[in-house]
Amino acid sequence: MTRESIQLEMNFDGTNENRFKQRFDLGEFQLIAELPVPSADTPLSDAVRRASDFEYLIHSQEHPKASIAFVDESPSGYALDMVQFASELCRYSRDRHILYLHGRDHTVKDILESVRHAHSEGFKNFCAVTGAAVHGENAAQTRKHVFLESVNMLGAIRDAALPSISIGATVNPYQYTPESAYAQSFKIFRKLANGADYLIAQYGWDMMKLQELIWNLFRREINIPTVARLMFLTPDNAEQLCAGAFHGVHISPDFEVLLKAERDHSFAQFEAAQLRRIQIHAAGARLLGFSAVQIAGVTNIALLETIFQKIREAFQEFRTFQDWRTAYAEYYDRLDMAPYPNEFYLFDNLLESDLPAEQLALASGIRPLTGSEKFRRNLAGALFANADKLPARERHLTKKLLVSCRGCNRCRLPQTDYVCPETCPKGLANGSCGCGKANGDCELMDAECIYAKRLRIADSRIDYTSLEEGAVPPVEERP
Ligand code: SF4
Ligand code: SF4
Repeated sequence: MTRESIQLEMNFDGTNENRFKQRFDLGEFQLIAELPVPSADTPLSDAVRRASDFEYLIHSQEHPKASIAFVDESPSGYALDMVQFASELCRYSRDRHILYLHGRDHTVKDILESVRHAHSEGFKNFCAVTGAAVHGENAAQTRKHVFLESVNMLGAIRDAALPSISIGATVNPYQYTPESAYAQSFKIFRKLANGADYLIAQYGWDMMKLQELIWNLFRREINIPTVARLMFLTPDNAEQLCAGAFHGVHISPDFEVLLKAERDHSFAQFEAAQLRRIQIHAAGARLLGFSAVQIAGVTNIALLETIFQKIREAFQEFRTFQDWRTAYAEYYDRLDMAPYPNEFYLFDNLLESDLPAEQLALASGIRPLTGSEKFRRNLAGALFANADKLPARERHLTKKLLVSCRGCNRCRLPQTDYVCPETCPKGLANGSCGCGKANGDCELMDAECIYAKRLRIADSRIDYTSLEEGAVPPVEERP
């Protein structure tokens, strides 16, 4: 396809068209490539010039078609304005691409302004992300920031009712303790209840976890597009991965040994190994029922073109689930992909077949509350049942003793199972961030993630409503 023919095709855009969404609706598999927004000190014209080949490559892809996911994982203000950058770069066909929205240091008003602006420029697809702690930041530093939760973002954007819009949400299926896996599962259902139209799974290398996500949606009779995010490993990011530098991304000891061995090879051998890896994972994601794969970590145009070509070849090579399953088993040669000793999966028999059994049994193993935890929870329930209707400072000392109250302006205890949301370094009231450690502890503290505790409380009461229904409204200030 030439630049001229692409341009011709693009000039016939309908104003209400959303081709990214249409491809999902038609069951057309898509490729998505992430493009990080350049830093704020880059002149816009330079940033656009450097990315123009990337945009051209994306538009020239056929069978499958491709899209750009504009991402900005830097702290607020460190990158160029995403809407401005994306608008300058993509003069046409903006309805093909996704803009990520990050909740760190943002309010509902900010996000709605950005979305309205982007929508007026022709962008129709967004992905709501609560946002992560900045690498190297500790819990106390993170507490200084407000995190607008993706659940609140989804609800606000849905209520804005902009035409032809489609909003995605991220999920991290790579959870390896019963508490973290179930907590993430309930968060997914809450995101869907609040308006998520599609899901983008965090990157990881354990295909059983990708199938677990699909089966979990199937179990609830939810049929929505899901995207598998795949990271293409360079020697540098393989090293960072082994050092645990990516929030919420856990690899097994076996996989770490394999990556270290690959890093000892020549660069060409290392890259060939990663190309084969991305083929196996992309083809597997497609056969497991994902609607798209999203490639992270590649801005080199020649490499991205090679990756697209390799993925196409893999789709030809692996036409059935069984072919792919055999190749996957041989490729990893019986490596354990779970981060031992944490190896929990929601279902048995994953990867034994592409289709789940009609009656899917969930695995158990959630740790019960201790007697003292139960006592404290019940006491808090009795004492603070109306705390959301009273001034937040009311009974501050008792709240401090019983639930480690930090003294915020709006008490949310009755909506959060009497676990104070401010004990989470990000102040999350609507579900786990998905970035916890492999053992289920908080990513920023040597303590259980508060959502593991909330899950155990919900399980002890056999009432999971507070984890998956409604939304606790956001606060704009934190104590
Ligand atoms: S939500 Fe937490 S910090 Fe805020 S008043 Fe209630 S107990 Fe205190
Ligand atoms: S307590 Fe849980 S949700 Fe909060 S930052 Fe830690 S891991 Fe994330």
